[in-house]
Amino acid sequence: MQRCRLQALLMFLMLGIATGAVAREPAVVIDAGSSYTRIVPVVSVLEDPTGKLEFEQVRSSTAFKPAPQIGTNFGFSQSAWWVRFSLSNPGDDDRHFVLREDYPLIDHLEFWASAHDGQWHEIATGDRTAFSTREFVHRDFLFDLEVPAGEQRTFYLRAASAGPVDLNLAIYGPHALVASVSGEQLAYGAYYGGFIVLVLYNFFIFLIVRDRAFVFYLLYAASYGLYFAIHNGLAFQFLWPDSPAWGNQSLLVMLSLSLVFGMQFTRTFLDTAAFAPRLDAFARITQWLAVLGLLASFTAPYALIILPVAILTVIVTTLIIVLGSIGLIKGYRPARFFMIAWGMLLTGVMIYMLKVFGVLPHNTFTQNAFQAGSLLEMVLLSLALASRVRELQRQSRTDTLTRIPNRRAFDELAAIEFDRARRGGVMALLVIDIDHFKRFNDEYGHARGDEVLKQVAEKLVNGVRQGDHVCRFGGEEFALVLPASNGEEAERVAGSLRKLVQETSSADAPITISVGVASTRDGAFASVDDLFRAADSALYRAKHEGRNRVVRYVP
Ligand code: GH3
Ligand code: MG
Ligand code: MG
Repeated sequence: MQRCRLQALLMFLMLGIATGAVAREPAVVIDAGSSYTRIVPVVSVLEDPTGKLEFEQVRSSTAFKPAPQIGTNFGFSQSAWWVRFSLSNPGDDDRHFVLREDYPLIDHLEFWASAHDGQWHEIATGDRTAFSTREFVHRDFLFDLEVPAGEQRTFYLRAASAGPVDLNLAIYGPHALVASVSGEQLAYGAYYGGFIVLVLYNFFIFLIVRDRAFVFYLLYAASYGLYFAIHNGLAFQFLWPDSPAWGNQSLLVMLSLSLVFGMQFTRTFLDTAAFAPRLDAFARITQWLAVLGLLASFTAPYALIILPVAILTVIVTTLIIVLGSIGLIKGYRPARFFMIAWGMLLTGVMIYMLKVFGVLPHNTFTQNAFQAGSLLEMVLLSLALASRVRELQRQSRTDTLTRIPNRRAFDELAAIEFDRARRGGVMALLVIDIDHFKRFNDEYGHARGDEVLKQVAEKLVNGVRQGDHVCRFGGEEFALVLPASNGEEAERVAGSLRKLVQETSSADAPITISVGVASTRDGAFASVDDLFRAADSALYRAKHEGRNRVVRYVP
């Protein structure tokens, strides 16, 4: 082994002399023990601002420099970037390694390797050419590196792109490559599987509850999921391998759509038009700007649009957080899940950013924190939707003025208790109507009338026992469900409520109520409607007999 290395070193030196002794980057030694090496630190780099240099010119160029300390992420750049590196194989067997460039959105990527015959072979690929130009069927760019026993080989790569020229280069032995790729595919499968399940699941829920917020959630999740699939190179591989032009444009399209639908979802979910009309108008403007970015992606070059769209993304995200916070402050319960969801995404973004700026180490967790955060966000937003459905349900059963259960809730509660009473139990209904309320309104105004309705509701709620239900039946009428109460008990409760309302109403504007009472023992009632009619007829008699009194139903 030692001897082989020495031999390689000698050969390397001799080769250097033979080719004119250009100062070369050190060759990466691949032997039986090598599996995975990041080669960024040992590559040489040549910038071609014209983008016109030919391979032969570059090969004889002496302008190659060691890669910058920060690596081979050249950011947005008009130049073509050439990368050169050498591998030496001191062993007795030929070795195959694989070069991996793991940023899949490079427009043009060309790779040169010398073959046995001494000829240079070129593979021209990149995400602006059909997927089939790739040597390996993989979302990233992979190239075969062959180094015969005891030899050293030099390889060249040329990259040019309208987007960031971010070259993250590593070489893998075959075993290491399989291990790495199979793990990644599992993770991506779980990630996108999660998205698909969320979209399908919420689609079915939408079919049942018919709340528009679900539709915008679906569209948001679908465009956001696709955005990541494009970013990972999976969309190009599996969805549109023969459409590289769309493949490039789609990134901007999906990002813009995510902004449009993410914002639309937020506005619908939080009902921002109602509680923050000005911010809502501003939110609408950001949506139109996103649509503009989408339309621009059909004509303007990528490099021109990506920056404004990135700025818009920051604005939209900030606005969503502000709107969510306002919802939270206003006590809208579903806003809690909404904010936790966005918190997850932002935590992921933060971890990713801290990695980019070198505060956190570069590892699988930090590298994928952003993407993982986005799935957690979607899961929690789905939970937020469930909470919203609950809230809507609660609202649809609550009277907006008095905040007590409304007629719909009464119908349900009364029906449940009636069924229960039929199985050997008993229940009673009270129907309460405020006396001469029309007159009260005429005399003191409608606003004061509303106040009285609220006060009466409160008094009724405080005046009954726990387990009794006080509902606003409509207008100035209330209906009470008294489970497990017979007629005498119900009459007693009704009497004390009547007294309570009369004695606590203000002296200058007295309020009284009339009450009709009926219990399931007071007759043979076939349905809860019959029981209600009985209580209502008792109320009618109470009115007739002079108001401010309790009348019990008699068959
Ligand atoms: P009676 O003693 O026979 O029940 O007389 P009344 O005037 O109370 O009965 P009527 O059914 O003729 O009128 C009910 C009035 O209740 C009419 C309406 O102005 C008032 N009312 C109904 N809903 C509301 C409400 O939400 N707010 C206010 N302020 N008034 C209401
Ligand atoms: Mg009345
Ligand atoms: Mg009335």
